[in-house]
This record gives sequence, structure tokens and C-alpha cells, in this order.
Amino acid sequence: MASWKGTAEVVIIGGGIMGIATAYYLAERGIQDIILLERDLLAQGSTGLSVGGIRHQFSHPANIRLSQQSVRVFEGFREEFGVDIGYHKAGYLFLAGKEETWRDFLASVETQRRLGVPVEVLDQTEISGRWPYLNVSDVRGGTFCAEDGYADPYLVAMGFAHSARRLGVRVEELTRVTAIQVHNDRVGGVVTTRGDVQTPIIINAAGPWAAEIGRMAAVELPVLPYRRQAFMTQSFDLFPKPVPMVIDQDAAFYFRGADPGLIMGMSDPNEPSGFHLQTDREFMERVVEAAVHRAPGIENARILRGWAGLYEVTPDDNPIIGPIPFRPGFFCAVGFSGHGFQHGPAVGQIMSRLVAGEPPELDLEPFSYVRFSRSGAGGERRVV
Ligand SMILES: Cc1cc2nc3c(=O)[nH]c(=O)nc-3n(C[C@H](O)[C@H](O)[C@H](O)COP(=O)(O)OP(=O)(O)OC[C@H]3O[C@@H](n4cnc5c(N)ncnc54)[C@H](O)[C@@H]3O)c2cc1C
Repeated sequence: MASWKGTAEVVIIGGGIMGIATAYYLAERGIQDIILLERDLLAQGSTGLSVGGIRHQFSHPANIRLSQQSVRVFEGFREEFGVDIGYHKAGYLFLAGKEETWRDFLASVETQRRLGVPVEVLDQTEISGRWPYLNVSDVRGGTFCAEDGYADPYLVAMGFAHSARRLGVRVEELTRVTAIQVHNDRVGGVVTTRGDVQTPIIINAAGPWAAEIGRMAAVELPVLPYRRQAFMTQSFDLFPKPVPMVIDQDAAFYFRGADPGLIMGMSDPNEPSGFHLQTDREFMERVVEAAVHRAPGIENARILRGWAGLYEVTPDDNPIIGPIPFRPGFFCAVGFSGHGFQHGPAVGQIMSRLVAGEPPELDLEPFSYVRFSRSGAGGERRVV
């Protein structure tokens, strides 16, 4: 592969949903000379391994607003980008078992409704009436939003990438950034496995590897990688369609309908931070056990395959979006803590405004780098 030396107006590090959507919206705004650097192929990191959930049901108002902004893009995706992304509004059903969780759900519902999200509050009887395949014997109540759903993350990323290239973005795959040059506190360029690029603006969109890129610019980013495993069943039609995303909050377990089977996953509270991506049979058995408890019919489903990807987690489960105050030219769109796919379109739009020097449409304080030095800010609680 040829090596090069070059210049760019903006360099984006990372070809997942964040980097690709940002590249597209920067180019759409007329910014010329954008280079996106991806050490692997596009969307092979967390984005391609995500289960594609899109929901309004967050506890933090800023995340609800990001979802609303992104949903507008998902709804018009086919028209704008010419790609069918398999967007289905199958809904999200959150279930609470513990009284404390239930009270927290109700507080979130107030926030969600205040922002115009059509969320229903359901008791045990209503839940089993609508989804008779669920075991709700230990459920205190649930919340359902029919406007939630899922889409195919790879197709979304590819839709953005195709349009970004058409607008002139240089997408360089198999190109790893190995160092960032800093002159008088300001970023000045990147060193890659294929050569150097001088640039006044660098966007860190490196997902679970964000902290490593931060260190290259002497910026400590509190973003840790955690393995998350997911499993897909063979064709399964015992439950009437559409099967929503069912989130068992207290068990940190979820499943949803997929064509033609089900996808399920769970967080392991004992998972240490790290980059390893093996699936593990013993954990799969625990996931199946949680699934059969919540929806006994799943006993008849056969697991087709499993995979593991990485969450990119911050201390308060909210992302870091925007410039780093003491490192002019260095911007971040990192730390999405397991819900970044759905916020990619909104974050791409926001990043393009910030780089162009325009004020963002929403208050980014909850996502600022400096929030970690303040106390009591309060992060996102609806995390699985
Ligand atoms: C199992 C699982 C399920 C999930 N389910 C959902 C869901 O339902 N809904 C949702 O919204 N989110 C979900 N997520 C989270 C979501 O996938 C991530 O938040 C999102 O994809 C993050 O996108 P990104 O672009 O920041 O990171 P990535 O997609 O990881 O992209 C970062 C890229 O940076 C590249 N890179 C790293 N270092 C370098 C370097 N030195 N030089 C060049 N390139 C580099 C990597 O190769 C990678 O391609 C899930 C994640 C997992 C693992």
C-alpha cells in the first residue's frame, strides 16, 4: 500500500458510526478536505457488533433529545441515502422487578413525557395481556414506547459512508493512527502506518480505543472497554410479531425479535475491563436461563451463533462530545456506554456544527469533558 504525506482540513480517527456520520455531516456542510482514518475496515468495531436498538426511553433528558434527533434521520434514511436500513418500530418494553427500579422508571417516564415521548406505564395484568409469552410473576410494572425499535447498524454506517465518499471525503481503511503531533498545546497532525497528515483539527471517534487516542494527544479520557456478548437463535415463530426489545432491567437482560429468530444479551457485572472478544459457553447458559425465566417459550429456541463486542464506558454512562478545552483542535465523540449506535446521526450533526464554530442545538454540558471535575452531575441510569 502506498504511503503518503499530506494535509487535511479535518482528520477523523475511527470508522464506526460516530466517525462516519461526522464525516458525512462535515462534508454536507461544505467542509472540504476531510480524511477519515480506520485501522481496520469500516464498521468492524462496536458498530458492526451492536444489536441495533433505537429507543427514546432514557433517564437523562440530553440522551432523549439525542434519540429524537437521530430518529428523524432514521425515519428519512431511505429517502436521504437510498438505503433500506431495516428500521422497525417494534417498541421497547422495560420491566422492573424491584420497587426501587420501578420508582426510578416512573421518574424517567415524567422526563420522557415532558419531552413529548409517548411512553405507556403498564401494570402486570396489562403486560401479560399484550405479551402473553412473558412471565411477569416477579414484575412490578413496565414501560412501553411504540416509537422505539431497531435497525441494522452496518447498513446505517455504509449508507453514511457511501454518501460521505460521494461528497469527497477520503476514507482510508487499513490505516492506523500511531501518534498525534502537538505544537504549543494545539494539535498539528497525525502519524499513521502509511504516513503523516498535517491538520488543524482532529476528531477522536475511536470507540473503545478512545482513551488510547486521547493519550496520544496527552488527554486522559475516562473511557474503558467492556466485553458484551450477544446471541442469536435460529428461526423462531412461537411469539406473535413484532417482538419488541424486552429489557429486564434488574437482570440486565434483553431480547428482541430479529428476522427470523431472536437476539438476546446480558451484562455481566463481574466482567473486567478489557479488549478480549471471545464468547463464553458458561455465560451463554446464564443468558439462556434468564431468557427462559422471562419468556418460557424460548426454551424451544436453538442458539445459532454468538458474538462479543465492546462497550465504551464512562464513569456516568454518558458520552464525551465536543472540544477538549486545553487542547485546541482536538475534538471527541467518545464514551457512548453501550448506546452509541442510535445516537450516531445526531452526534454527527452536532460534531459538524462544533467544528464549523456554530453553537450546538442542544446543551452539551452533560456531555462535556469538564463535567468529571464537578460533582453530582448525574449520568444515564437506563443502561443495560
Ligand atoms: C453487543 C453490543 C450491543 C450493542 N447494542 C446497542 C444497541 O442496541 N443500541 C445502541 O445504540 N448501541 C448499542 N451498542 C453500542 C454501540 O455499538 C456503540 O456505542 C457504537 O457503535 C460506538 O460507535 P463508535 O463509532 O464510537 O465506535 P466503533 O464502532 O468501535 O468505531 C471506532 C473505530 O475506531 C477504529 N480505531 C481505533 N483505534 C484506531 C487507530 N489507532 N487508528 C485508526 N482507527 C482506529 C476502530 O477500528 C473502530 O472501527 C452495542 C454494543 C455492543 C458491543
